[in-house]
Amino acid sequence: MPIGGKKQLPIAIEKENAVVQSTISGRDWELPGMWNRMFEQRVIREFSPEAIEKVASLDGAESLSWCYGCGKCVPVCPVDIVGEYGPRKIFRKVQTGMDLFESSDLWLCTTCMNCLRVCPKEVDMVQIMPAAREVAVSNGNVPNELQDVFEKTFRYGNALGENPRRRSAWTKDAGVPVRILSKDPSPVDVLFYVEDYWSYHPRGKQAAQAFARIMTSLGIDWAILGPEEKTIGDSQRLAGEKGLFEALMDDVVATLDKYEFSRIVTPDPHGFNALAKEYPKRGHTFDAYHYTQLLAPLVDKIEWKKELDYTVTFHDPCYLGRHNGEYDAPRKLIEAIPGLRFTEMERCRENGYCCGGGGGGMWLDGFTANHTTQRLSERRVIEAAQTGSDVLAVCCPYEVSRFEDAAKSTGNEQLKIKDIVELIDEAMGYTAE
Ligand code: SF4
Ligand code: SF4
Repeated sequence: MPIGGKKQLPIAIEKENAVVQSTISGRDWELPGMWNRMFEQRVIREFSPEAIEKVASLDGAESLSWCYGCGKCVPVCPVDIVGEYGPRKIFRKVQTGMDLFESSDLWLCTTCMNCLRVCPKEVDMVQIMPAAREVAVSNGNVPNELQDVFEKTFRYGNALGENPRRRSAWTKDAGVPVRILSKDPSPVDVLFYVEDYWSYHPRGKQAAQAFARIMTSLGIDWAILGPEEKTIGDSQRLAGEKGLFEALMDDVVATLDKYEFSRIVTPDPHGFNALAKEYPKRGHTFDAYHYTQLLAPLVDKIEWKKELDYTVTFHDPCYLGRHNGEYDAPRKLIEAIPGLRFTEMERCRENGYCCGGGGGGMWLDGFTANHTTQRLSERRVIEAAQTGSDVLAVCCPYEVSRFEDAAKSTGNEQLKIKDIVELIDEAMGYTAE
């Protein structure tokens, strides 16, 4: 089979009879041809290993060459469900000469980790893709929309290109006092690391305000960095900008070092992932929590004011669930809300379906649309609507806007998208629907 050629049936070399000598008795045994079926030499030898070696020689990308083609990864890959993808397919394409650094396949992986969960050879796309993307970034070969986000992050310290001085603008309408550490630097128990989408996006700001009210009502001693905060930038790292991530980390750590706090909590599973797993690799260790982990042990102390008459389903964020093993905290919170009826989607927990926002996918929707039949967020919203739920609950700041857009574009406007803190806030009587 030539490189890039069509699949051809192997030529069977068959004899009518064959004689096989027993290694035990030394006797000859005559076998019919059906036991002696052979095929011509596997054509894989005709391919040069160069393309695979180019990827596998990168730090972190070695495992691409370990693939033995079992195919377990393909049916669990969320991108394959809306296109032609999955590690086995990528491996095979690279093996037969595709230059991954020039290919659109380089940007479609959301680093959701569902393939690694099932791969017997531990082929790790969560490391392969960022390593290969780093090469493409240094060659200037990056989709425009992603390059734009890299530049905004570099200039403003946030992916949205917003004014850093407006980081704490959301606090004005929170309805509770919010302590900003640069103005009041005394020690604090919980440092609330708000991250970009809860700081600036209109729907994110509502969630940040709800979380502020909940923490205050629970008597938590908390504060924010305000204008000193910069994004942790884990998605930029996974999208290939490791240098930018490391520069951000230096800034973040320098700011955090100025203050005394016991715990750090963030609503962003991507930021949480970096604090929990990437920062310690570089010598920076914090007692880090996703907000659901901070609230779940305190759920019995919440003073509920009303029952919510909703059926709710829940979307597991890849970077909270599969990447960090937290499936129970969000469910504990949802199940504690009075009146709610909770129902799971078929793909949930370890096998949760990715929203398409991870690994830089948040900023690649335009690019991805040219290579898939449907957005991952649309696919997920349809699954949520099929449960008959009124509300799709989320706990990642990327997801509210992604799923609200998807609910509109798939004609599922009846499905409301709410962060779990918005549901808690509503049941505590702070906000009406
Ligand atoms: S990490 Fe997720 S999106 Fe990427 S190849 Fe694996 S299953 Fe597919
Ligand atoms: S599951 Fe692993 S070994 Fe099997 S085809 Fe996929 S990447 Fe290759």
